[in-house]
Amino acid sequence: MSSPVRVTVWNEYRHEKKVEKIAKIYPEGMHAPIAKALREAGMAVRTATLDEPEHGLTDELLSQTDVLTWWGHAAHGEVKDAIVEKVQARVLDGMGLICLHSAHYSKIFRKLMGTSCSLKWRDVGEKERLWIVAHGHPIADGLPEYFEIPHAEMYGECFDIPPPDELVLISWFQGGEVFRSGCCFHRGRGRIFYFRPGHETYPIYHQAEVLKVITNAARWAAPEAGPKPVFGNRKPLEAIPST
Ligand code: ZN
Repeated sequence: MSSPVRVTVWNEYRHEKKVEKIAKIYPEGMHAPIAKALREAGMAVRTATLDEPEHGLTDELLSQTDVLTWWGHAAHGEVKDAIVEKVQARVLDGMGLICLHSAHYSKIFRKLMGTSCSLKWRDVGEKERLWIVAHGHPIADGLPEYFEIPHAEMYGECFDIPPPDELVLISWFQGGEVFRSGCCFHRGRGRIFYFRPGHETYPIYHQAEVLKVITNAARWAAPEAGPKPVFGNRKPLEAIPST
């Protein structure tokens, strides 16, 4: 049996400590139900949060992380650039990255996309319906044709990202907008998945389908064995006759 995927679940972990309504939904932080679901799927899971030294993302932890999940919202600016550089280097070297919900505006996601990553939004607790548009994709494994989140914050197009390498989910909102909700990217040797659901005032990370997508994405984003790319000048493998 292959060794379990090593996942680090990173969370800003501020809203849950400051707002009673959010603390009631996520008493141990939003990272807790995500970590629990990944553990139940057989992965080796650790958590890290913004207010720990080095935001919990030490060199040692990053070097032992196959996939990093990222949730941030109000404190993107407090994430140290030096840590963002290290995370980017690990992604380019093969670590998977799953950016959740408002992490569309995180320093690391914007750096890896190279665009503003802006979008439309509205928070009135409307219904969201997510459609799988890549049947057979590993991130859609075991999911129905569509699923619904009863109360969600709306994110609407246009979402200013580069065209995703693969689009797995799109959302429809009761108010009329649509959104690319499950987007796969490759950067260097690393795989990146952006997954939209997860506004802090709704119990979205307690919903089975949402946790299933995150679990599938962690498996998909885990590094694969294979030769490391080699760069730079090289001698020919065979003699090339001079002309
Ligand atoms: Zn939100």
